[in-house]
Amino acid sequence: MTRIAFIGLGTMGLPMAHNVLRAGYDLTVYDIMPDPVERLAADGARAAGSPREAAEGCDVVITMLPTSREVEAAVLEEDGVYAGLAPGSVHIEMSTIEPSATRRFAASAEQRGIRVMDAPVGKSSAAAAAGDLTIMVGGPAELLEEHRALLSTMGSTIHHCGEVGAGEVVKLVNNLVTGGICVVVAEAIVLGTKAGADPNILVDVMGGTLAGNAQLESLFRASVFKGAFEPGFKTRLMLKDARLGVGMADELNVPVPVCALVKELYGTAVQRGLGDRDFGSYTTLVEEVAGVQARVGEARSQTATVG
Ligand code: NAD
Repeated sequence: MTRIAFIGLGTMGLPMAHNVLRAGYDLTVYDIMPDPVERLAADGARAAGSPREAAEGCDVVITMLPTSREVEAAVLEEDGVYAGLAPGSVHIEMSTIEPSATRRFAASAEQRGIRVMDAPVGKSSAAAAAGDLTIMVGGPAELLEEHRALLSTMGSTIHHCGEVGAGEVVKLVNNLVTGGICVVVAEAIVLGTKAGADPNILVDVMGGTLAGNAQLESLFRASVFKGAFEPGFKTRLMLKDARLGVGMADELNVPVPVCALVKELYGTAVQRGLGDRDFGSYTTLVEEVAGVQARVGEARSQTATVG
């Protein structure tokens, strides 16, 4: 049986690891926080005390960590994954990090006979729980085919984007758009609300026109209108992605002034204490200045601030 190690059991990693376990893989898990490790151990996973220990004897190690800093610590340090993996094994890097960092890890892994592919994911923690993620793979096509069944336990759509790092390129471009849409929709809906429109009607109308986008239902109607800002996707991670996307644009000399502004706005949101809230909480900054909240139903009557 293929032995898998999963490192990073947060908002996304915990449900993803659960799906790997449910699919019948032999799973070892590691996180710096004990709680998610204990939860998976209670369901039959083995708990490891370090990334190295998690990796020992495994065929595949998956990392799902916040930034390249944590991935670097988890894979390259003395007690890291690469010290524990045998030649011929595989590291699947599923965090959203710099394409250049993924390539650097791959080069280091190659010296030890370890193969690497990047496979960052799109969609939400709910999609992670449902095994319905979109997965963007960078690496040799044959490596993807070898591990397609494993990836399919976590995602329903798998795109082969190119060589190592290409999955991260596609993911960063995707998230520049995701972050921008949220800011524009937040501003427009708060404006419409202050001008007297019902937020639900705004979403109904926009959803049927060229203003339509998936966040209207899955983020605004499902969470923002209820005043629900539990992550989801943390604002600090959206800021990280915006920085990485704009950084990639700088490196390649591509003008992205609107994306750069969106990055600044998420920076403000983090400075204002929203880093660990869902990125949809950016809306509250607009609401605060506007003096109106885009809430409906119970949330509307509780907050009673819709003008
Ligand atoms: P998270 O902050 O909820 O979870 C990160 C986990 O990593 C935590 O459990 C933390 O304790 C653990 N961790 C931190 N440092 C560690 C280390 N050195 N060793 C082991 N464990 C460590 O983050 P998340 O939302 O699960 O996101 C993970 C990655 O996936 C990020 O790169 C993010 O940008 C990306 N992503 C997130 C979403 C989302 O909706 N949340 C969607 C797509 C992609």
